[in-house]
Amino acid sequence: MADKRIYNFSAGPSMLPEEVLRTASQQMLNYKDSGMSVMEMSHRSSTYDAIIKDAQRRLRELLQIPDNYKVLFLQGGASTQFAAIPMNLLHSGCADYIITGHFAKKAYEEATKYGAIHVAASSEEDKFSYIPKQDQLDLHPDADYVYLCHNNTIYGTEWNYVPETNGVPIVADMSSDILSKPIDVSKYGLIYAGAQKNMGIAGVTVVIVREDLLGNTLARTPTMLNYKVMADKDSMYNTPPTYAIYILGLVLEWIKKQGGLAAMQERNEKKAKLLYDYLDQSDFYITTAKKEDRSLMNVTFTTPSKELDALFVSESIRAGMSNLKGHRAVGGIRASIYNAMPIEGVEHLIEFMRAFEATNGGK
Ligand SMILES: *Cc1c(COP(=O)(O)O)cnc(C)c1O
Repeated sequence: MADKRIYNFSAGPSMLPEEVLRTASQQMLNYKDSGMSVMEMSHRSSTYDAIIKDAQRRLRELLQIPDNYKVLFLQGGASTQFAAIPMNLLHSGCADYIITGHFAKKAYEEATKYGAIHVAASSEEDKFSYIPKQDQLDLHPDADYVYLCHNNTIYGTEWNYVPETNGVPIVADMSSDILSKPIDVSKYGLIYAGAQKNMGIAGVTVVIVREDLLGNTLARTPTMLNYKVMADKDSMYNTPPTYAIYILGLVLEWIKKQGGLAAMQERNEKKAKLLYDYLDQSDFYITTAKKEDRSLMNVTFTTPSKELDALFVSESIRAGMSNLKGHRAVGGIRASIYNAMPIEGVEHLIEFMRAFEATNGGK
């Protein structure tokens, strides 16, 4: 690692590949002989046009997005999609929501402003420690869509199956696990993700939507939230988040160089296994997410007490790691190990955990 950089376990905004930061810094003052930085460039220039088209092409290639899907680069973060999704898709007025955590619940609450929203399943009574099974889902055949949050960033759980919905389109929030492994896009009606966790920086949200779902927008939908308008204008209805899209392109290029999503999956599984194996053999650390639903990206655990949790976090900072504190809603410790986290970072964390347990475990 470059001098003085630390292992950043933040859930988002999170660590970027060092190579991406180097390229961005080399191109900062004069992007490819344009005489200016990407930040200063007109979004209508031919130089920028190549940047946004490249980003879209790379994303399509990595995720193998079928031709009948549109890729949109939007603003307002993933949270804006909580409203945009019902506004664009709720044409007959009812939808099923599966509530597996904080962000799924927020999306549900927002959607209730626009129609009859039904809770198809919820793991809230069990502190969001698991993902419901197929037979626990109470799905309506006439729903406009079934909504789920694919990776629960705060609770450390992740969907490991695609539910059967009998043709009802699935809408999936993949903000914290997109590009972590290959997925079959054709099984979803809409996939969206804020870029700042596993794809880039804050400012751009990617929406991948099946074409036949466009054009049923509720009448009062703001133009800026209308997917059809954004699709027809190639995400250039107004000024797009130009620099965030440029960084997204660099991250996608980096993923391809690493060997694409299959290679990402192999690396991510290796990192997660190291950490979970260590946690499982320890009598000191406690995990809460159900084993079979554990996230590859956000590993959540606690020590035996709140005081030790706090000590763990403060000592980890001195040991060259940051942002290991769990989300304010749940406490404890959370290690986010997205694509850009090298295996050495995870090894460093485990070494620290071992020493912390030896000092504070009192066995
Ligand atoms: C972070 C996160 C969000 C919220 O993202 P913003 O871009 O801050 O609005 C939504 N869903 C998931 C799964 C997240 O991890």
